[in-house]
Amino acid sequence: MSTTPPLRRTKIIFTLGPASESEEMLEQLILAGADIVRLNMAHAKHDWTRGVIRRIRAVSARIGREVAIMMDIKGPEIRTGDLAVPIELKAGEIFDFTVKPGAGAGARGEDREIRSVDVNYQDLVKDINVGDTVLVDNGLIRLEVLEKQDAHIRCRVLIPGQLSSRRHINLPGVKVNLPAFTEKDRADATVGLEAGIDFIALSFVRQASDVEQLRAFLAEKKSKVRIIAKVEDQSGIAHLEEIVRAADALMVARGDLGIECPFEELPVIQRRAVRACLASGRPVIIATHMLESMITQPVPTRAEITDVANAVYEQADCVMLSGETTVGKYPLECVQMLGKISRRIEAEEAPDQPLAAVFTSERMKVLHSAVVLANELPRSRLLTFTRSGFMASGLAALRPVHSPIMAFTPSIDTYRQLRLLRAVEPFLITLASEPNETIENAIAQLKRAGLIVPGDKLIVATDILAQDRLVDSVQLRTVR
Ligand code: PEP
Repeated sequence: MSTTPPLRRTKIIFTLGPASESEEMLEQLILAGADIVRLNMAHAKHDWTRGVIRRIRAVSARIGREVAIMMDIKGPEIRTGDLAVPIELKAGEIFDFTVKPGAGAGARGEDREIRSVDVNYQDLVKDINVGDTVLVDNGLIRLEVLEKQDAHIRCRVLIPGQLSSRRHINLPGVKVNLPAFTEKDRADATVGLEAGIDFIALSFVRQASDVEQLRAFLAEKKSKVRIIAKVEDQSGIAHLEEIVRAADALMVARGDLGIECPFEELPVIQRRAVRACLASGRPVIIATHMLESMITQPVPTRAEITDVANAVYEQADCVMLSGETTVGKYPLECVQMLGKISRRIEAEEAPDQPLAAVFTSERMKVLHSAVVLANELPRSRLLTFTRSGFMASGLAALRPVHSPIMAFTPSIDTYRQLRLLRAVEPFLITLASEPNETIENAIAQLKRAGLIVPGDKLIVATDILAQDRLVDSVQLRTVR
């Protein structure tokens, strides 16, 4: 009896940049299996944003594979101000960060030897403590706080380096008191909503109320865009469970986490974050440095292969590429590599223990019965019909062991958002007036696409009409 090749369960996100934004490369990346394109607004202008969103949609339509678009907004970010020329910071040097222009010792004529730079965070002096660490430029430069004055902090350089204008600052362990959703975020998000994004990723989420601010903005705009909360500092980790509950999905943003937290904590945090998401039925993305060496090399390191495999073993929904596809030399090979590793590990994976259902709603219990049935039956496929995506995300949250979830929706917006979910394969369908006709049409569509063959078992989780009422149902059908 013939069988069909398994569909990849782990989804692939790539970040758009000079290495990937051409129409030709976009086509290749989407055909290679990319599911979601990420726009990093820390580096994007509005005209560029509108242009690339149009291009992604046009390429997807031409090749017949719709992908989702995630706009990643910058959130609260501390930066150094402008410098006329870069400063070469030396080990042991005393250096000032000032919150008012001209407040440094050198500028005030107090001590011309002491150099300084402005910082865009007015509460810096209030919120930081003597002995704290200041990290500049993604942790490349490290300083220790020696003293605080009215309008500056004085530091000693521990790890030297070149400081240039507008560098990113991290203050590990400091509860930063900046708005979660800034004016820039609002302007970026407005452009994104007008251009038709599917997801919005909020950076540096520190507590659930940060997510709620963005949710209120989306409600004001009557938008159904889903929120991905990026956890990237100690405050986010301390409030992990409430953030997971408030958001539609979570991103483990390992780039900043690796600066904000002791590095040996990173794997522990990743595992805890994935488990918190599995327990709450929220999708989870593992991001940053997955194939970092492929920015310059055509093959990954053994450690990177194992890192990607680990995310798949942990049952994350998505793995994400950043520098690899924005500025790297091998964007296509990176997407292919993630696909290859995921497929191999998924074939291996089949966990001994299916996820224990901890979901209490009646609907989730019905979906759980569908997943139990699917896990029992070899060559089974879950089929579902969904307008909002709820049925598909419910099934995905229950992590069926081997069955793909074939999710049919009449909505193109839902279709794209389903790209985020582990094991879900979205399909567009026109709903017939009679539910059984819709199911028959879906089965015919899958047969034509060669995705099911006679003998396959279909577990259909959908609502059906019973005496004029819609009731949830689970059906078992064998493909003929
Ligand atoms: C990260 O820090 O890992 C991340 C994804 O965020 P960004 O690229 O915006 O710094």
